[in-house]
Amino acid sequence: MKRIARTLGGGFALVAALATTAAMRAPIAGQVDGARLARPSADDWPGYGGSYAETRFSPLAQINTGTIGKLSLAWAVDLDTHRGQEATPIVVDGVMYISTAWSKVMALDAATGRILWKYDPHVIGGKAVHACCDVVNRGVAVWKGRVFVGTIDGRLIALDAASGKQLWSVVTVDQSKPYTITGAPRVFKDKVVIGNSGAELGVRGYVTAYDTASGKQVWRFYTVPGNPADGPDHAASDEALARLALPTWHGEWWKYGGGGTAWDSIVYDPELDQLLIGVGNGSPWNQVLRSDGKGDNLFLSSIVAVDPDTGRYKWHYQETPGETWDFTATQQMTLATLDLGDGPRKVVIHAPKNGFVFVVDRTNGKLLSAKPYVRTLWASGYDMTTGRPIENPAARFVNGPALVEPSGIGAHAWMPMSYDPNAKVVYIPAMEVPMTYARDPNYVQRLGRWNTATILGGPAPGVPDDPAARRAAIASMTRGTLIAWDVVQGKPLWKVEHGFPWNGGTLATAGGLVFQGDYAGQFAAYRASDGAKLWTYEAHRGIMAGAVTYRVRGEQYVAVLAGYGGSMGVAAPYPDRSHLVPNGQVLVFKIGGRAKVPAYVPTPQPPANPAKDSFTPAQVAEGAKWYGTFCSICHGGPINPDLRRVGELSDREAWKAVVIDGALEPNGMASFRDYLTPEQAETIRAYVSSQAAALKAEEDRAGKPAK
Ligand code: CA
Repeated sequence: MKRIARTLGGGFALVAALATTAAMRAPIAGQVDGARLARPSADDWPGYGGSYAETRFSPLAQINTGTIGKLSLAWAVDLDTHRGQEATPIVVDGVMYISTAWSKVMALDAATGRILWKYDPHVIGGKAVHACCDVVNRGVAVWKGRVFVGTIDGRLIALDAASGKQLWSVVTVDQSKPYTITGAPRVFKDKVVIGNSGAELGVRGYVTAYDTASGKQVWRFYTVPGNPADGPDHAASDEALARLALPTWHGEWWKYGGGGTAWDSIVYDPELDQLLIGVGNGSPWNQVLRSDGKGDNLFLSSIVAVDPDTGRYKWHYQETPGETWDFTATQQMTLATLDLGDGPRKVVIHAPKNGFVFVVDRTNGKLLSAKPYVRTLWASGYDMTTGRPIENPAARFVNGPALVEPSGIGAHAWMPMSYDPNAKVVYIPAMEVPMTYARDPNYVQRLGRWNTATILGGPAPGVPDDPAARRAAIASMTRGTLIAWDVVQGKPLWKVEHGFPWNGGTLATAGGLVFQGDYAGQFAAYRASDGAKLWTYEAHRGIMAGAVTYRVRGEQYVAVLAGYGGSMGVAAPYPDRSHLVPNGQVLVFKIGGRAKVPAYVPTPQPPANPAKDSFTPAQVAEGAKWYGTFCSICHGGPINPDLRRVGELSDREAWKAVVIDGALEPNGMASFRDYLTPEQAETIRAYVSSQAAALKAEEDRAGKPAK
């Protein structure tokens, strides 16, 4: 408008007329408030889970079981990286706000895909080494003309919804520690709340509420106690930690942080004016090392309700007392009113990592129902009088290794579920992933690196001793499923098998449809009544994020971010690594959409590249140990380079330049000079080179790069 005023000189009347027309055409950007989040218009998707209740159910029905065959691409926007895309778009008054990998933000015209503005917080690339699970971001929050995003380096930033200009930025963590933020902020009562991640690397969890206008801190709630010798935190959690939590901890947990990071689900409950916090796993995982193997370790793996104005404790329910398996309770919490046989109650529905669907009375935290939605080897059920699990004692791997299911990846991770409040059914992106657990006898705390004190995948009763046979046995029990779960009956209605785990979040609509993407890049619509697959779109990149739906000028759209990554993207073998992972995309569909994307051309992987140097068996053996300690957690999946194929492998100096001197830090590969000597880094090259030689032999036999 300034530019127009300058051009027109004294034509103020015309400028004023233009401004009025513009104001009539488009409302002021991002005008979301509590009323809009409590009862959204069907046209919008104003909050992370749709509304405050976070059901991810839309009453829109233009796209339905009858019209789904005509659903096609309306527009697509390419993103700038192949890193994982986990965000749920926010859509308000025809404008879409998304976050992408590396904590970037974009606003787009929701009907056309025209980019209105972009924002880059310029995160330092080396910070990626503190991100257990990729440099992902699950979304923004919008409130009264502002857009809020948490960054991978621990900042919370407010942007102008109209321009994308930064309004304020606060550092919400101690940046000398391995904290990260991947979760979407939540907004209520002119406050914005954000948690953090990092329990695998050694931190203490908390959530903080800030004033939306000024960025000033309002309250902070720590989820686990600190070192008692340091005295109280002078935080909202002081009283609850001293009275309830501290007596449940033993040993010297504070040296390891204790964990309890609230890295995903934080839900405002407008009916009871309370904030529910989903609390994560312990740090380190292994309770023997964390808390002398005893105590409930509150508030790990709990739902904690606090006063939204002061952060003061109201109630809690702990789903996994004495957590020792990475059983977070950070997964999506959905608010509902349900009658389980004794009249309607206000409840929270939760399907956390530990494999049970919980229904908890949200007036007091009392357990109403806990039913397993997958095989649960660690517990046979819940005692409904105490609300505690009936555990299989061997699963704690105290007196020897154990096969445990679910495992740390969860029976359900952060991928959002959806809930149809009419049918009273949740659609859970579930996983069946058993894993062997053993105490790490050589555990040494390395702050800032992987600190679980647990060995996964080793020998255990119930699986073969031979490593290859054991991997095959575990793989044969591993799959992803989409489960339609009747919450009142406490049983599945139907299941869809995906073969591989790590599939997308779900969206349910009044059109009788459930939308879900999968690891292999198929975005599909299923019939909600029986799970029949009615429609698919080939995205050519794995889909993890939750989809949304909205309406602009009477037309219904369905939107999803495509882009594989996250914890399995960096750490877990993928069925097909024969091509590199392409950049992410925003994909938006409508009935009769006519958009086309360029033909997909897979990029082949480079061939195996073993070094010509000769290494001693002792170097190779030592390198195997360091590789397992520092490298495999980020280079085991398809997202980051397969080290057996990188150019630096055959060049001693180039290898040192990356591993010790940090030459690729801007790309996310931090220097390991604080953890490794140049000689130790060279032993990793020896080990990886031996693996590359084996891979090259395989490729030479096959005559092409192996998968
Ligand atoms: Ca974890």
